[in-house]
Amino acid sequence: MSSSLATVAYIAAIILFILSLGGLSNPETARRGNVYGMIGMAIAVLATIFGPRVTMAGIPWIVGAMVIGGSVGLFAAKKVQMTQMPELVALMHSLVGLAACLVGFASYVDTSIVLTGAEKSIHELEIYVGIYIGAVTFSGSIIAFGKLSGKIGGKPVLLPGRHAINGIAALAVFYFGYAFLQAHSPADGLTALTVMTVLGLLFGIHMVMAIGGADMPVVVSMLNSYSGWAAAATGFMLSNDLLIVVGALVGSSGAILSYIMCRAMNRNFISVIAGGFGTGGGTAAKKKDGEPQGEVTAISALETAELLKEAKNVVIVPGYGMAVAQAQHAVFEITQFLREKGVNVRFGIHPVAGRMPGHMNVLLAEAKVPYDIVMEMDEINADFPETDVSMVIGANDIVNPAAQEDPTSPIAGMPVLEVWKAKTSIMMKRSMASGYAGVDNPLFYKDNNRMLFGDAKKTLDEVLTALRA
Ligand code: NDP
Repeated sequence: MSSSLATVAYIAAIILFILSLGGLSNPETARRGNVYGMIGMAIAVLATIFGPRVTMAGIPWIVGAMVIGGSVGLFAAKKVQMTQMPELVALMHSLVGLAACLVGFASYVDTSIVLTGAEKSIHELEIYVGIYIGAVTFSGSIIAFGKLSGKIGGKPVLLPGRHAINGIAALAVFYFGYAFLQAHSPADGLTALTVMTVLGLLFGIHMVMAIGGADMPVVVSMLNSYSGWAAAATGFMLSNDLLIVVGALVGSSGAILSYIMCRAMNRNFISVIAGGFGTGGGTAAKKKDGEPQGEVTAISALETAELLKEAKNVVIVPGYGMAVAQAQHAVFEITQFLREKGVNVRFGIHPVAGRMPGHMNVLLAEAKVPYDIVMEMDEINADFPETDVSMVIGANDIVNPAAQEDPTSPIAGMPVLEVWKAKTSIMMKRSMASGYAGVDNPLFYKDNNRMLFGDAKKTLDEVLTALRA
């Protein structure tokens, strides 16, 4: 393939990637967006393999690598549970970081690249920056994977003088960068590169370890952004325009998403990165002076069905527990039943519900819940006072009134769905355990709140049977 044909193919792929991102911004067009992305990627891969920079001798290597990588990817995608998706995504980000590091080292030791003067310095700067971003992305994503999968505790690990440690490490990275650019021999250059890579890896570990459970949504999207910049850096090292553009698209869309997530949680991006916020999740709520106490009122599936039958307006708020229980299909059937009986059923979706951006929207779309009754938090919050029943299905942090009522709460200021303002709120979960942020929830003890204990899928099936009876 001639170089101009490859360029045309790259431009087509870039347009398809932009259309893909546009499509993914709305559930109704998301499927089409995915198709554009897949076609774009197929064109990009083919144009690269048959492009002017790959010789015939290289093709078997590429095909071999694709077969191995493709098989691992296919196996992982088939095996992964929907609730493990965020961990898988974090692991994928780590691979982008690792690739940037490997390409960086390979470009440095590649004797076929002969550059002099300013060109040499620019190329080396690209390598240095690319490897650093790659190292931070790699180790940070591995730690994020550990935290999201519960292999590492969610509690922030705060070393004494951690900001000073980060500052000194940053100065060292600049110093070794200077030493790298001034290196008289490849061996000296490699030493500087290796020291910087170790510093980058340690910084990635330290940064994500210091971030508490409650801030993990921002970390996931931030690492997504880093993986984009790592890919863009790889594009610069390889002089591949497509990789630069696609990396920049991923990097900037991840940065915008991080900003949106910070706003949704009323957090400042810098203080998220500085860490130290939030605790480990999943612990039983402990009582201390000043913390919410009182009686909780349990409700049965039968009583829940009665309340739903009598209601005119119902708002369902799904959370991580709905994903764990795979209860979305039961939710859909209840919704359909109630709508046929003339009940106005709508959904309230918090921007950080579940464990990844858009988690709930994906599950509800899979269960064929109509898009027009799925509302964002800002669209529905004002309607709770006119709501008869708010049903919270396996959600906890995103409906925690302490965010508004208790200025000392670790999640103080985070916008939440105000389900307690409905006539009755029903909270479906298995126990009194706290959510991901590890914060006690005073909603349990409110007079108008009822606890429907049990696995969400099992309990919803019982509610449906009672409704139909
Ligand atoms: P939470 O983690 O706050 O609460 C989920 C609740 O579901 C738990 O309290 C649990 O209680 C319950 N649950 C678990 N399994 C089941 C089951 N089988 N049946 C019924 N209930 C079940 O989830 P939310 O969605 O409310 O909030 C999301 C949290 O995750 C936020 O803190 C957010 O910051 C964080 N996060 C979000 C990310 C994102 O991008 N969306 C990424 C990373 C973190 P019990 O054990 O008693 O059943």
